[in-house]
Amino acid sequence: MKIALIGYGKMGKTIEKIAVERQHEIVLRVGIENQVDWENFNEAEADVAIEFTQPPVAVKNIKTSIDKGVPIIVGTTGWYEEYKNIEDYCKEKNGAFIAATNFSVGVNVFFALNEKLAKLLAHHDAYNAQIIETHHLEKLDSPSGTAISLAEGILNNHPSYRNWQNEANTAEGILPITSIREDDVKGTHEIIYESEIDRISIEHFAKNRNGFAVGAVLAAEFIEGKTGIYTMKDVLNI
Ligand code: NAD
Repeated sequence: MKIALIGYGKMGKTIEKIAVERQHEIVLRVGIENQVDWENFNEAEADVAIEFTQPPVAVKNIKTSIDKGVPIIVGTTGWYEEYKNIEDYCKEKNGAFIAATNFSVGVNVFFALNEKLAKLLAHHDAYNAQIIETHHLEKLDSPSGTAISLAEGILNNHPSYRNWQNEANTAEGILPITSIREDDVKGTHEIIYESEIDRISIEHFAKNRNGFAVGAVLAAEFIEGKTGIYTMKDVLNI
């Protein structure tokens, strides 16, 4: 498979390594300094694009890929207020994309576990839920996209919570998300349910960036030759 890499930072470089190990070819590498190469790129030269850049530029990059008819895997987080517009644009142009707040196989299993736990505790009012996420200091968005997905998993399955807030102390019915920024943390997410008598917690701890990269390449392999909008649940058959 021929892959265009849009964004060639920490993730772009890790994806290149994994993609080459899986016998794929990188035909384009785009960073902030050569964005024009993506605008001018001949669509016939790539089967799939993989986008890991920064929140303000992701939407334009996705639209360019849809315009070119190149299916795109989007890892950049922090642009989701535009998700519905992109969905409509993709349908109108018969394009293809998969966006995920987290491409790691482990985290997608963790998402399913989180939903199950929320269902199990949905009618036990003694437990208060919270999410704590920790990332490296350069991370631009807060809370993390993964923490927002986890919060949505709780809101959809636990009737006591109607919204989330990026604060440790919140009003009743509001799920607290605490964001911690520390040097060199790849991404840790913990879900805690606490009562007067005990505490239940589940945690996902990313040891390195390879998990995100493997998942993004699996998603690229899945979407090659397809049109439509998919999720990691489709890719991993969860
Ligand atoms: P990074 O800062 O190391 O790299 C970002 C890259 O984007 C840089 O190389 C920069 O030159 C490039 N860039 C900026 N503007 C651009 C533009 N207009 N066109 C092309 N390239 C441009 O960041 P990173 O750690 O690689 O993370 C990138 C994004 O991916 C972030 O939003 C991060 O939150 C997200 N992320 C998602 C997952 C996931 O699984 N979905 C996992 C890790 C990181």
